[in-house]
Amino acid sequence: MAQILELIPSSRKKKNGEIAYKGVLNHFIYVEERRSADKITWVCEEKRKSECGARLFTNFDMEVVSAQLDMHRNHIADSSKLDVLEVLRALKLRAVETQEAMSAIVATARHRTSTVATAHLPLADSLRRNVCRYRVATLGKAALDDIQTLVIPQQFRCYPRLF
Ligand SMILES: [Zn+2]
Repeated sequence: MAQILELIPSSRKKKNGEIAYKGVLNHFIYVEERRSADKITWVCEEKRKSECGARLFTNFDMEVVSAQLDMHRNHIADSSKLDVLEVLRALKLRAVETQEAMSAIVATARHRTSTVATAHLPLADSLRRNVCRYRVATLGKAALDDIQTLVIPQQFRCYPRLF
């Protein structure tokens, strides 16, 4: 079975305005170098920094068609970068699927990140902004429903019973 290159949207955009994707295979991160009629050439993200010559080719379904040159001689996979991507994904899910306080979500995200990876994690302030943005974007209506079904604390429930 062909290996599949996993795509992760990056923060950068291409010249034509499309979102640029990074590819992940076996914990290594790749960037697109060029595409031809039938395949895409991916080079290691560490190409310049580590002078890494690893490259691989996929078709447009992201199936790896050739990995003969996929050798990272000068460096190991930086799993801390992948940890961060995972943590940010989890943070987004919790922001939209739970009612947890923002500070709790941010604290969990930072707690789950290994010490090494924390260096790559955005600052707490910007994590909080992310949580807020995710919630507003996807929960606008849900948040409103919440208010309507709010549980009233016992001490305020003092209406006399009529019967
Ligand atoms: Zn490499």
